Amino acid sequence: MSTPQTFVIAGASLAGAKAAETLRAEGFEGRVVLVGEEPVRPYERPPLSKAYLRGEVGFAAAAVHAEGFYESSDIELLTSTTVRHLDPVGMSVTLDPGGDLAYDGLLLSTGATPRTLSVPGADLAGIHYLRSLSSCDALRAALGEARRLVVVGGGWIGSEVAASARQMGTEVALVETASVPLERVLGTEVGAMFRDLHSDHGVELHLGVGVEGFRGQGSAEEVVLADGTAVAGDLFVVGVGVTPRTELVRDVGVKLDNGIVVDEYLSTEVPGIWAAGDVANAFHPLLGVHIRLEHWSAALNQGPAAAQNMLGHRVAYQKVPYFFSDQYDLGMEYSGFATHWDDVVYRGSKEDREVIVFWLDQGRVVAGMNVNVWDVAGDIAALVEAKKPVDPERLADVSVELSAL
Ligand code: NAP
Repeated sequence: MSTPQTFVIAGASLAGAKAAETLRAEGFEGRVVLVGEEPVRPYERPPLSKAYLRGEVGFAAAAVHAEGFYESSDIELLTSTTVRHLDPVGMSVTLDPGGDLAYDGLLLSTGATPRTLSVPGADLAGIHYLRSLSSCDALRAALGEARRLVVVGGGWIGSEVAASARQMGTEVALVETASVPLERVLGTEVGAMFRDLHSDHGVELHLGVGVEGFRGQGSAEEVVLADGTAVAGDLFVVGVGVTPRTELVRDVGVKLDNGIVVDEYLSTEVPGIWAAGDVANAFHPLLGVHIRLEHWSAALNQGPAAAQNMLGHRVAYQKVPYFFSDQYDLGMEYSGFATHWDDVVYRGSKEDREVIVFWLDQGRVVAGMNVNVWDVAGDIAALVEAKKPVDPERLADVSVELSAL
């Protein structure tokens, strides 16, 4: 009789939890050990800048699985536990606490960690970062007391936290180095829609200007900008991006380049080691490049794909990248991946924020974003997948079915 296999999942994230679920759903009968640093069971992060932050929903709404799922699925969930060391030759990891554990397959779903600002005063009290549930709980409590929040960074965290804080009745100022929020992903023209959205909801915007430092007696009282402006507040949130958590695999032969480099099967070059989620820089067959997707949907779908591959089924991960955001009364979904484009086409009313935006490169749709227009993300993904030239006039014409293009 052969010894049962052990699959270890380092990172009890959404990707890790979905991988564990898939291993069991596919009939794997060996050990599944899911290791996470946090004291709670795996959860999804999108509510942490939205409904959970605002206190509208509790933990259960964010949890990946219902209470009791891991026990009933015979998944060994080790909370408050860190994978400290990896021996890829001996195929074992060292857990803290817990000691050594041999594995037959290892999935790295260690995620990412917020980039911190290293300007004078950055370590003053009252400056928050948002990533984990505990950081969200701390921010949520502070928001309940705060009169005026200053957000540094107009990316996804900054935009969603600013919106949530306004919805909670807090005054908000937002500082961003680019000329509009979300510029890197959406471009200047479309980012302007979000600039106006925040401005219409009373956010004081400081755009196109960097941060020189924070000042305050004990806790931060103002952020000083490169142009000399001092923006006062009694609470500060910094959202200036994340870095992949690769410390476990430094110097063990796993290729690192903007995260853990994996192929379309989410496999590293080291036998028995896979990676999924925010940490994985995966080759994407549809796009023909390696990309590291820092979004909920990649974690949700790459975890199961990695599990399939750990079981020996060859499943290439090639879903069209997708993410969503909710800010005030604006809901949007973005499908595709656009780093450069030569045309932007609007279908609907940009002014009323009820529109689908398409980014085109040489006549082909490389990404699309539906704003307050629903049930079209599948059609947009199909256009991206088709990689066929489309007529921009028909694309903009609401009387032409998207599925007909
Ligand atoms: P992000 O979306 O990458 O945005 C970071 C923003 O901060 C960018 O606009 C960046 O501008 C700006 N920035 C960088 N350095 C700065 C500085 N020194 N001063 C002022 N601004 C600065 O990252 P994030 O907002 O921190 O979010 C963290 C992660 O969570 C990301 O992976 C994000 O995708 C994810 N997330 C996703 C969602 C969603 O999908 N709805 C929601 C929340 C969070 P440049 O681009 O010009 O550098």
